[in-house]
Amino acid sequence: MLSMRCVNCADKVQDFLRLTDAERTYVKEQIPKHFRLGAYYRCARDGCLRYQRRGNHKDGGSFPKPEAKNQAKDQAKD
Ligand SMILES: [Zn+2]
Repeated sequence: MLSMRCVNCADKVQDFLRLTDAERTYVKEQIPKHFRLGAYYRCARDGCLRYQRRGNHKDGGSFPKPEAKNQAKDQAKD
């Protein structure tokens, strides 16, 4: 675990965790091939979907919202 500023948490210092296997799969598709996946961590704050690179907190993005799939299903019913 490490601490760094999180862009999604108003630039406040948060704890960051190593990526899970599913998160690694997602991030791998978002970053340039020559970037090391092991350098990316995810924000540990509840509800935050931010992942970013160690050493450069501006380099990163957000995981898709987990509920996005359910919303699509509900709309399909209507
Ligand atoms: Zn965060």
